[in-house]
Amino acid sequence: MSGSEIKDQFKAINYKLNLVRLLTVPLFIPVCVLYFSDLDAFIGLTKQSAVWVLLMGAAVNIGFHFKYWKCPSCGKKLGSGLSISQCQNCGVQLK
Ligand SMILES: [Zn+2]
Repeated sequence: MSGSEIKDQFKAINYKLNLVRLLTVPLFIPVCVLYFSDLDAFIGLTKQSAVWVLLMGAAVNIGFHFKYWKCPSCGKKLGSGLSISQCQNCGVQLK
């Protein structure tokens, strides 16, 4: 795989994971509304079910992270950090 193909693949991985993170953000809204107001339910969710929905969203996030947050070149897990630009295992440039 060429350097630019690796960078393109890394960009696609990053995009996919950011999309999943972004989709989880709205799940915080019912939890916040229910905990900071006197409402018993919000958009059909009770406090407990709103927390469950949020936890499921978090679980999906973690699942995606473990499945896809890998170096496109060597397949090893990438370190944490949003500014990662190089694989710590094989040294390939990711950005
Ligand atoms: Zn690597």
